[in-house]
Amino acid sequence: MFPAEDSVFQEFNDLCRKLGWRVTASRLAVYRYIRGNRNHPIVDEVWKAVQRQQPNISRESVYRILTDFVSKGVISLIDRPNVIARYDSNSQRHDHFYCLRCGRIFDFNIDEVDEIVRSKLNKFGRVDRVEARASGVCQECLDRELNSK
Ligand SMILES: [Zn+2]
Ligand SMILES: [Zn+2]
Repeated sequence: MFPAEDSVFQEFNDLCRKLGWRVTASRLAVYRYIRGNRNHPIVDEVWKAVQRQQPNISRESVYRILTDFVSKGVISLIDRPNVIARYDSNSQRHDHFYCLRCGRIFDFNIDEVDEIVRSKLNKFGRVDRVEARASGVCQECLDRELNSK
């Protein structure tokens, strides 16, 4: 049924068992693409990649699978106002640097940010998630600008 029963398949199989889900070829294909993907893809990028294995899969199905993954904490959703949803394969707490030139989003991790924000926000109630956002111009874009001068 599944062409490649490799370690990713095993991992996904275990995950589905834990979540009480059926392993479907579509879910597996989405998982394969998103797992370890550090590019914070939007739904259309995931869809395009998954179509290579599942030519008939609809955008809606991919979107629904991603939403299910988010609801179970398998991946997370980056909520950036006014832009298309992006998904993050890294469900561990981490921070983001947005390059305003090329639009890429980079991961970084400063644990102190988490501690400081939590300690300052506990008066508001329960803090579930802390994410620092920084924006600017990434090194690659800076180099490109320098070289074009
Ligand atoms: Zn950049
Ligand atoms: Zn990230």
